[in-house]
Amino acid sequence: MIWNINKETMDREQMRVLQGKRLQKLVTYVYHNLPFYRNKMQEIGITPADIHGIDDIINLPFTTKQDLRDNYPYGLVSAPHSQIVRIHASSGTTGNPTICAYTRHDLTVWQESVSRCLGAFGLTREDTMSVAYGYGLFTGGLGLHYGVENYGATVVPASTGNTEKHIRLIRDLGITAIACTPSYALYLSETMRKMGITRSELKLHIAALGAEPWTENMRQEIQEQLGVKAYNIYGLSEICGPGVSYECECQNGSHIVEDHFYPEIINPITCEPMGYGEKGELVFTTLTKDGMPLLRYRTKDLTSLINEPCPCGRTSVRMTPIMGRSDDMLIIRGINVFPSQVESVILSMKEFEPYYMITVDRVNNLDTIEVQVEVRDGYYSDDINEMICLKKKLQNHLKSVLSIKAEIKLVEPNSIERAQGKAKHVNDKRKL
Ligand code: ADP
Ligand code: ZN
Repeated sequence: MIWNINKETMDREQMRVLQGKRLQKLVTYVYHNLPFYRNKMQEIGITPADIHGIDDIINLPFTTKQDLRDNYPYGLVSAPHSQIVRIHASSGTTGNPTICAYTRHDLTVWQESVSRCLGAFGLTREDTMSVAYGYGLFTGGLGLHYGVENYGATVVPASTGNTEKHIRLIRDLGITAIACTPSYALYLSETMRKMGITRSELKLHIAALGAEPWTENMRQEIQEQLGVKAYNIYGLSEICGPGVSYECECQNGSHIVEDHFYPEIINPITCEPMGYGEKGELVFTTLTKDGMPLLRYRTKDLTSLINEPCPCGRTSVRMTPIMGRSDDMLIIRGINVFPSQVESVILSMKEFEPYYMITVDRVNNLDTIEVQVEVRDGYYSDDINEMICLKKKLQNHLKSVLSIKAEIKLVEPNSIERAQGKAKHVNDKRKL
């Protein structure tokens, strides 16, 4: 279902006009209400009068996570405190937390965005969605929660933890949809197996997965294990939280809520704008926020934009799956390696469970990389030769994708720690 026909299928030219108008209003607002932006704009000699349309956005200054940290806690909040109704803090996957402040209007926009996602995932008001993102400072739980209520479906605020109880609820309440991280979806299916509950006992058929990068192979695995259609939902606290973009039934790139969040792709080194189809760093401008609006916020997420019509009828620009953050990228002996590349190899091989840990170290000034992975029941053997063969097979496969040789450590099923929220896949000992 298309939740907001008017905005989601808007003519491209009309959308750009709308974005331009919103940008002009936003720039005028921050210029007069936030010394931080006024100073930045004065430094480069630009005033609100220089913004005539959305194309002029490339002349505006960027905002970085460091700016948020430097102005912690309230330096980038533009609305008076009496209008702020909620505060979240980013989970701080990388570095110190930063806060995000929302006015009532901002929360309305967020709910609207999540409702568009739910429509695209095929929910109806008859559906019951269990929200298994963490509730709290992290935007995942409350973000989805209020989106589902706004949509008019039923929400079960399961949060994370208590997985067995949660599975019984999914079965007993006939829960049809779940929102969680892809890692948690896998963990659920694994716990179900241990409890002896099969997917045919559940009514679950939709999964809204996000908050961390995941691969196409991971999608296949989850769809198969849980008997669901798994959709991507993307977002970040600084922009609002989950709901910035979402997949439709075509599962072919995530539609961006671009009447509220204007996307750009830049070269992460030179900051030059890049074209459609080119891979670079994703940048967002919050066109309509008034609690803590951001101009050209650098997400560090690496992706590319698709500006072609989608068979679903939505006209919005789509983004390809995030391959990682620029600061997730490991440089090993000068070669760029993303954890998502390792994941796609492991999940393409039937011998392994979808759990892995990458350890990077430096021995005698030389970088080393070790991939620890669980061998599936039935493939684990006491025969050393068989295990050596399996190791070699994975090593060769990885080498063809990464161009470097990784040490492989095969471990038994259940040896690697399971994630309830965002999974941790890398232990880089070089930084210690
Ligand atoms: P933190 O930056 O502390 O992790 P957030 O909770 O705001 O805080 O996380 C937002 C980040 O999570 C995004 O910038 C992105 O890197 C990642 N993320 C969120 N959703 C997805 C998704 N669907 N696919 C890949 N990465 C995602
Ligand atoms: Zn579509």
